Amino acid sequence: MDPSPLFYQAGPALPEISHAQGVYLWDDTGRQYLDGCSGAISCNLGHGRDDIRDAMLAQLDRVAFTYRTQFENAPAVALAKALVGLTHGQLEKVFFVSSGSEAVESALKLARQYFVARGEPQRRRFVSLRPSYHGSTLGALGVTGYHPLEAPFTDITIGSLKVAGPDFYRHTDADDTRHVARVLADTRTAIEAAGPDTIAAFVLEPVGGASTGARMLDRAYLEGIRALCDEYGCLLILDEVLTGIGRTGAWFAYQHYGVTPDLLATAKGLGAGYYPVGALLARADIVETVMASGGFQHGHTYAGNPLACATGLAVVEAMQREGVLSNVAARGRELEAGLKALQARFPWVGDVRGMGLLWGVELVADPVTKAPFPAEHNYFARIAALAKEEGLLIYPRRTLDGLAGDHFLVTPPLIIDAADTAELLDRLERAMVRFDREVA
Ligand code: PLP
Repeated sequence: MDPSPLFYQAGPALPEISHAQGVYLWDDTGRQYLDGCSGAISCNLGHGRDDIRDAMLAQLDRVAFTYRTQFENAPAVALAKALVGLTHGQLEKVFFVSSGSEAVESALKLARQYFVARGEPQRRRFVSLRPSYHGSTLGALGVTGYHPLEAPFTDITIGSLKVAGPDFYRHTDADDTRHVARVLADTRTAIEAAGPDTIAAFVLEPVGGASTGARMLDRAYLEGIRALCDEYGCLLILDEVLTGIGRTGAWFAYQHYGVTPDLLATAKGLGAGYYPVGALLARADIVETVMASGGFQHGHTYAGNPLACATGLAVVEAMQREGVLSNVAARGRELEAGLKALQARFPWVGDVRGMGLLWGVELVADPVTKAPFPAEHNYFARIAALAKEEGLLIYPRRTLDGLAGDHFLVTPPLIIDAADTAELLDRLERAMVRFDREVA
């Protein structure tokens, strides 16, 4: 076989995709895979849907591309209204982009421009969590807390004040309540030391994604961060690139906690793998302040193009029509029960955490001390390879800020049914039995 000119990742050659339907994919040798991670937690409605294709083709027949400063387009306006509706009008303004990194980047720049417009140009710093992942462009990478990704670029990114969030698996405080109180107190101390009036915004994933293996926050923590932002006069940016558009069982994860952000970034599930589309949602007064100062100095060529927005609109409408959120709740309960049963069986499953159809499984060498496996074993990759051999795709990563520790995400398409959820758990069990033999 000719060497591939692509250089996405080091490692063995990948199978070539042939086709996909529903929650299954087939490679060109005929091998079938159950999509247990929605690609990159993005193919949320499964593959090969006629309704999305028909909406895209209808838009292609009308016009695929227009530039956002030359024409308004109906799908963009309709999708923006739909997204505002999903926030119950709490965030009234929408700026479209093509990826999650761009959505976060846009949030950072809008926050900064807002404070320049308000005559507070000293507010130029961001606070974010370690570990966290906010994207791969230099701005989004600057607020990302994940050493292996940051290392080559720390000198040239904007950087951010990195603070610890709650860790309900490993903390050694007396109980969760006291843990959250201590984490919030430490965060306050760090912000006080940095100078609260230099902070533009706090950036946060409401449920951790790939960098943490679905590490959970809780209501008290989010309320505490909201209160700190209000006290210090900075904005709260929620990164719902992964959690938004139904993944956790609510349209946006913040809705589980009753804490409203000022800016919200979303992407992945909005195009559901059919076309790249993301969005920055913002409080109206923030946008009005920036627009009154001459407009948002930002934008990408493909932002808000008709084909992207027609796709996003078809996705949201399909989810509303089919009541996908109730399926997320029902299948999420089955997945949680199945994963916890596997945890009870295999001592190296240290933690199972998540909500809706976003679940993280953390592997440990010792369930009592919670010590991770030695990093050089690369067990996160091994278990994913075994799962793939069993016909199941999962999403593996290192935990503990990427320095040690292993986890994988189980995040099937939101339309998965009960039979395929059981099949997913069967295939995972087979991979785990094989992994158990190797590590025992
Ligand atoms: N933010 C979060 C929480 C993510 O999970 C991701 C992608 O994994 C991003 C931002 C970046 O999105 P994209 O890869 O579409 O640029």
